[in-house]
This record gives sequence, C-alpha cells and structure tokens, in this order.
Amino acid sequence: MRTYAELKTQIEALGDRAAQQPDLSIFLPVFNEEPNLRPLHAKLNAALAELGRTAEIIYVDDGSTDGSLKVLREIAETDPRVRVIVLKRNYGQTAAMAAGIDASRGRILIPMDADMQNDPADIKRLLDKLEEGYDVVSGWRKDRKDKFLTRRLPSILANKLVSWISGVKLHDYGCSLKAYRREALADVRLYGEMHRFIPIYASWAGARVTEIPVRHHPRTMGRSKYGLSRTFKVILDLVTIKFMASYQTKPIYVFGTCGLVAFAISFLAALWAVIKKIVDGTSFIRTPLPLFALVMFALGVQFLLMGLLAEMLVRTYHESQAKPIYAVRERIGFERR
Ligand code: UDP
Ligand code: MG
Repeated sequence: MRTYAELKTQIEALGDRAAQQPDLSIFLPVFNEEPNLRPLHAKLNAALAELGRTAEIIYVDDGSTDGSLKVLREIAETDPRVRVIVLKRNYGQTAAMAAGIDASRGRILIPMDADMQNDPADIKRLLDKLEEGYDVVSGWRKDRKDKFLTRRLPSILANKLVSWISGVKLHDYGCSLKAYRREALADVRLYGEMHRFIPIYASWAGARVTEIPVRHHPRTMGRSKYGLSRTFKVILDLVTIKFMASYQTKPIYVFGTCGLVAFAISFLAALWAVIKKIVDGTSFIRTPLPLFALVMFALGVQFLLMGLLAEMLVRTYHESQAKPIYAVRERIGFERR
C-alpha cells in the first residue's frame, strides 16, 4: 500500500514532468567520490554546453561517508539544473540508479559513473546514435582502463556468457554510460546487480538496442567499490532473470512437463515388467523394472510439487515488486521547477 503522501508526491511529480520536461536527465550514483565531484561536474557542464539541449543533472548520494554530500550541496546551490537525492544508507549502485530514474523527468535518460571513468564528451555521440532510431544506446569500453586479472578478464568472460544466455548481443554490459528513451524503461524493475542488464530487459520488451565504443579513463581519485566477487553475483542475477523472463508466467508448464515425462517412463517400465511376466514368466523381483518405475514415479511427483512451489514463488515475487529498493533521506533542489 502506498501512503497518501507518497501518492501525492507521485502525482505532483507527474504534473511537474508534464509542465517542464527537460530533454535530458543525467543521473550519477555517488558513493564516496568527494575528490571527483567538482572536476566531473565541470566536465559535464562543458559537454552539456556543446549540446544546447535542456538538461537536469541528478546526483544520488548512496550513503557516502566522506565529504561527498557537502560538495553536492554546494554544487546544487550554484547550478539550478542540479538535483540531489540523499539515500538513507548505502544501497548499492543499482538502487542508487533506480532512485535516479524514479526522480528523473527528462525525455532521454543518461546514467553515468561519478568517478570520472566515463567521459561526458561521449554523450553527444550516444544521442546522435539514439536519433538514428534506437531506444537504447549502450557504451562499450573498448579500451577499458581497469586491472586486467581482477576486473577486465572476468568481465570479458561474464560478457560472453551474458550475451549467450540473454540473446542480446553487446560487448560490454557493465559500462555505466548509456542513453535510454524514457519509454524503453517503462517496465524495467531493478534489483540486485541488475542495472547493467537494463538493455537486456528493454530488448526483451521490444526496444531497439545498440552499442557504440566510448572512452574510458583510469580511476585517478577515490577507490573502486568492486572486486572479483561481483562477477559471480552478476552471473547468478542473470540466471535468475533469464528464468523469470522465460518461465515467469507458467513455471508449472516447465516442471509439469518434466513430471508428465517421468510418469510416462514410469508407466512404460511397469507395463514392460508386466508383459515380461506374462510372456516369459519373469518374476517381478528378478528385474529392476518395478523399482525403476517407482523411482520415476517419485521423480514425477517431485517435479510436479516443484512446479507448484515455483508457481507460488513467482506470484509472491510479483506481489513484492511494489516494494521500493531504497529509502530517501533528503531531496535537494527539488523545490525549484
Ligand atoms: N557506487 C554507488 N554505490 C555503491 C558502489 C558504487 O553509488 O555501493 C557508484 C560509484 O560512486 C561510482 C559508480 O557507482 O559512481 C561505479 O562504481 P565504481 O567506480 O566503484 O565501479 P567500477 O568503475 O570500478 O566498476
Ligand atoms: Mg569506476
């Protein structure tokens, strides 16, 4: 259930959006990026000045413990296009991005890292590509400037796997810099490490998705928040979404079919045992067939029960989707239109 206040904010946001929709919403998750914020904002402003489009810039402070928030307040004070969302604690990059998307009003949404590894100068090329008739343009860090063994190698393997499992052929799902038409994100719900799979969801929902090479800079200030373990999380998340996407409407069909096949094998084995008994008088105890039939029968029951369980899980999953994955402590710059 949404509270009255939440609904009111949502309705106001809708009115707001209709009244004054900027062309671009650029949103950046920030977790302990204090030294990067000012130079990044300057670079971003320079890039936007070249574009001549209306834009809003949304910084999402994901529970930073350094001076990031203080710097963001100062930036918001001097730049009227800036809005800051302060989350109650560190929720992770995906949740921070979801907060940015939820607060955005623009026609085109552009996520970007706040650590200066993405280059704001690439925004223009993403937009040009979007204009060619795509709904999603994803950045490809063709010349990625991260450590090879712990970051680039696992990511190459994970990207291959993701491309194979999802059927959406990109080289670099993990690049944060992308551009989306708002409509392409309409049905996308984020959780886990899944911000990187937004193009996949969008493509499954019919969006036209493409990729262009973008620049990538080494991190010079602050520290990366991730290591090797994220690759495993990413792969497990992918298996989950693939399963959800393929079978979410009727898992009982999948498990039910396995169950019926097991029942059929069980029946044939039993039948064969009976025929053998009639034809050449083989005793039931002398062949493994009855045991085999029993095992297959038990397996069939297991499959059916698993199907039912999955069905229940899926329903619970859908009902729980309304839960927000982050909580907001403060909004800065939202009072101005
Ligand atoms: N980030 C975040 N919350 C987190 C971890 C990271 O908002 O829990 C932000 C971080 O500040 C940066 C972006 O997500 O803007 C990407 O993080 P990072 O540069 O550490 O990832 P990498 O580039 O090493 O993959
Ligand atoms: Mg980075």
